[in-house]
Amino acid sequence: SKVFITGASGFIAQHIVKLFIDNGYSVIGTVRSIEKGEALKTNLNVGDRFQYEIVAEISSPDAFDEALAKHSGVKYLLHTASPFFYDSTDPEHDLVIPAINGTKNVLNAIKKFRPEIEKVIITSSDAAIYSSVDEQNPALSFDETSWNNITYEEAIKDPIAAYYGAKSFAEKLAWKFLEDEKPSFKIISVNPVYVFGPQAFESEVKEKLNTSNELIHSLIKLGPNDTFDVDKGGFIDVRDVAKAHLAAVENDNLIGKRLYMTNGHFSTQMMVDILNKNFDNLRGKIPVGKPGTGSEDIKTLAKVSNRTTKKLLGWEFITLDKIVVDTVTQIQKVRSKL
Ligand code: NDP
Repeated sequence: SKVFITGASGFIAQHIVKLFIDNGYSVIGTVRSIEKGEALKTNLNVGDRFQYEIVAEISSPDAFDEALAKHSGVKYLLHTASPFFYDSTDPEHDLVIPAINGTKNVLNAIKKFRPEIEKVIITSSDAAIYSSVDEQNPALSFDETSWNNITYEEAIKDPIAAYYGAKSFAEKLAWKFLEDEKPSFKIISVNPVYVFGPQAFESEVKEKLNTSNELIHSLIKLGPNDTFDVDKGGFIDVRDVAKAHLAAVENDNLIGKRLYMTNGHFSTQMMVDILNKNFDNLRGKIPVGKPGTGSEDIKTLAKVSNRTTKKLLGWEFITLDKIVVDTVTQIQKVRSKL
């Protein structure tokens, strides 16, 4: 079958594209430039089973119309494109508007041009489940039924609030579209916490990695006497997130569900411990912090449960140890070839 994916050159999307190709699908992906499309085509090396269309700005009016009008017979659409960065001085313009308009544009384009699409998978986020403030409140608990109810005014105040707001507004809009427009397609959302793991292709290991992996990358750039911020949150491997997108397409039991993708909580201290334990070539070169105190760090986070998601998907998610080891092993392998 044919799958259409927005933001195909993104960190998570490249894993999704690769997995769908490996499972026999043909994929049409939108990218922002010819360079990004060609790079992905070269890395995949599957000829016409991967094609790309240029959509330079998802929030431009009717952004997806041309690309979708061109490709008949698409059965599934995955919407992953959305801004994910925090260095913005205009968070409403950079983060909130593209997330909202991008989702609106893609759903309207399907309605206009591709009534044959059966399922739409929205790559949402845990940011649609809780606000960045509530996530850090140990008195609260969250699961697949929870919503970040931040208002628009609160969301546009700073980049973190804006990213969390953007993802919740965009996902809400998708479910509301279903109610209001009664389209022929079904919706499944995938709501991952911090997504880490190796890049789909070694050529993607760049000086600066995607926002979430840069957190791990920044730790191996430190010297032995440097300090680091205690960052903490949920973790999940990108390969599990890609598999969830495939399951959403193939398993009808997932229709209408929100797949809350988390395998527990991490802190940067836990990552530093894993690095010092597993990499002889980093020991003595990076800080040790306060070994073994990571479990204390995460006590201040809200309680979460994704039992429903784990039961629906039915496989064991990748552990933090393996995530950190695989991510850094790939970075070191690429750097050693330079
Ligand atoms: P990336 O930044 O690697 O991927 C985002 C993709 O969207 C890129 O291809 C990017 O293109 C494209 N994009 C962003 N803004 C626009 C725009 N205005 N117009 C056109 N294209 C745009 O991030 P991830 O792979 O990590 O994120 C993918 C999705 O997963 C996003 O929806 C994100 O919110 C979600 N997510 C990610 C998490 C994580 O920890 N990584 C956690 C939870 C959810 P380009 O790179 O060319 O700018």
